[in-house]
Amino acid sequence: MKNLPVLFLLISTFTFSQSFQTPFEKGNGNQTTTFDEMRKFYQELAKQYPSISYETKGEDDNGAPIDVVIFNPTKQSFEDARKGKSVLFVNNGIHPGEPDGIDATMMLMRDLATGKIKAPKNVIFTAIANYNVSGMMNRGRFSRANQNGPEEYGFRGNARNYDLNRDFIKTDSKNSRSFQQIFQWLKPDVFIDNHVSNGADYQYTFTYISTNKERLGTILGNYFNDEMQKTLLKNMEKKGVISVPYVNIHGDVPDGGFPAFVDSPRYATGYTTLFNSIGTVVETHMLKPYKDRVKVTYDYMVDNLNYIDENYKTIQQKRAENLKQYKVGNRYALAWKLDSTKYENIDFKGFEAKYKPSDISGKTRLWYDRNSKFSKPVKFYNTYVPAKEITIPKYYVIPQSEWKIIDLLRLNQIKMIPIKQDSAITVEQYRIKDFKTVPNPYEGHYLHYDTFVTKESGKTKFRAGDFIVPLNQDGVKFLLETLEPEAVDSYFNWNFFDAMLGQKEYYSVYVFEDTAAKLLKENKALKTAFEMEKSINPKFAQDGDAQLDWVYKHSEYYEKTHRLYPIFRIN
Ligand SMILES: [Zn+2]
Repeated sequence: MKNLPVLFLLISTFTFSQSFQTPFEKGNGNQTTTFDEMRKFYQELAKQYPSISYETKGEDDNGAPIDVVIFNPTKQSFEDARKGKSVLFVNNGIHPGEPDGIDATMMLMRDLATGKIKAPKNVIFTAIANYNVSGMMNRGRFSRANQNGPEEYGFRGNARNYDLNRDFIKTDSKNSRSFQQIFQWLKPDVFIDNHVSNGADYQYTFTYISTNKERLGTILGNYFNDEMQKTLLKNMEKKGVISVPYVNIHGDVPDGGFPAFVDSPRYATGYTTLFNSIGTVVETHMLKPYKDRVKVTYDYMVDNLNYIDENYKTIQQKRAENLKQYKVGNRYALAWKLDSTKYENIDFKGFEAKYKPSDISGKTRLWYDRNSKFSKPVKFYNTYVPAKEITIPKYYVIPQSEWKIIDLLRLNQIKMIPIKQDSAITVEQYRIKDFKTVPNPYEGHYLHYDTFVTKESGKTKFRAGDFIVPLNQDGVKFLLETLEPEAVDSYFNWNFFDAMLGQKEYYSVYVFEDTAAKLLKENKALKTAFEMEKSINPKFAQDGDAQLDWVYKHSEYYEKTHRLYPIFRIN
C-alpha cells in the first residue's frame, strides 16, 4: 500500500509523456494530425505547462475556431512579456494539403514547454495552430496529386473554396479578417508561413521564399537578404539541411536560371511586409518523404528562434530605421520589374532532366533522372527595380460612404481622424483612365490590372464624419498599396470601386442631337476643338455617333463623377 502513490506517479508520468507525443510522432511518419487531435493536444499541453497558452482568436468561414498558441515562459501576459523582446509569428495550414508546419509546430511548442530545447530569452514564439480550419476538416488522399505524403490531408480551398493565400487584401473570408486581427495584435518582428512546393524535381528538401527585399524596404530588405537569411541557411547547412530559393518555374527545367517569386500584398508575406515584418515562406519539396519535410520545417523554426534570440536588438533597430524610408513627400514604388542584368550564381543541386515518349500520348515527355545528380551554377535573379512610382501624400481623405474600406483600415489599426464639420478642402483626385480585367473569375473577383490614372485637383466638399488619414504612421505602406489604384493589389483592382466605373445617366440620340448642335453654335472654343478632332482623326470624322458622344463628354451634361476615384489626396 505504501508504494502505491509512487507507482501511481510512475504510471501517470509514463502516460503523460506518452500522451504528449503528437499524432505525427505516434504514427508511421507519414501521417498528419486531424483538427480535433491538434486542439486536444494543445489544450492539454497548455493545461500542463503554464508557458503555453492556447486560445481561440478568430473564426473560419465555416464557424470553426482559429486558435493561436504562444510559448511565453515569463509568467507575464503576452502584452507585458513582449516589451523589450521580439516576436516570431508562424502561420500553418493556410493550404491544409501542405500540413508540414502544423505537425512541426506542435512538436516545437511541446519541446520548448518541456525544456527539451532551450527556451529563447528574447523571443516570444507565437503561431496559428492551423489557419484554414474548414480546409483541414475536408480530408482526403488525392487532392495533392504530385505530393509524397502524408497519407491523408486537408484541402487547399476553405469552405467557400477561397485560396486564403490570395485573400490578405481583398478579405473575402472570415479567415482573412481573423488573420489581420491576430497579426495586428501580435505585431511580430519576424513571420514564417509554412507550405509545400509544387514544380520541378531537384535534390533539396528545403526551399524558401524571402519576401521581396525591395518591397520590404532598403534597410530591412538588405539586412534580411544579405545577413539574416544567409546566416539562418548556413546554420541549417551545418545540420545537414541544404537549401535553395523557391524554384520559381513551372513546366520548364531550372537549369536556365529563375527569378525570385514576387509576393505581392495578396499573399501572407506580401501583407506582413507592409507592416515592416521580415517574412519567409517555407516551401518544402513535395516529392520528399513527409517526415523529412516536417523535420526541416521544425529545424528552420528553431534556427529562427536562436537567431532572433541573439539578434533581437539589431532586428528591432533595423525595423525602426527602415520605416524612415516612407516619409511623406518621398517616392514610393507601386510596381516592380525584374532587373535581368543582376543575378547571383547558385550552386544548384539538381537531377538531370531527360525526355522520353509518353505512355499516354506517345509524345515527348519530361522526366528527372534521380540517379543522375548534378551540381552546377544556375542564375538566380533577385533584383527588382521600380516600374511605377508615386509621391507619398500627407493625407488621404476618405468619405464615410466608403465604409467597407474604412472597416478594413480599422481592422489594420490605421489611424483616422474624423472631420469635425462640413468643409471644402483642396484635394488631388484620380480619374481612372484605363485598366484591364481578367476574362474569368479569379478568387471570387474579376480582378483589374494595368490600371492607369490621371490627376485632377480642386476644392471638394466633405461632410462632418468623413476621415482624414495621415500617412505619417506605421501602416503607411498598407495605405499606399491598398488606396493607390495603380498598385497591383489595390482595393480598386480587387473591385471595391467598380460601381463608380458605370455611368448612371445617359442621353437619347434624337434629343441630344439638337442640344449638341446648339452647344456647338454657342461655344466657339468647343466648336474649334471639335473641328480639330475631326481633322486629325479620319475615323472620327466619319462616325456620327462618336461625334455626338464627343460633344456630350465635353459638355456640362456629362457626369463629372464618372470614373472619378472617390479617395482623395492632400500633398
Ligand atoms: Zn502552399
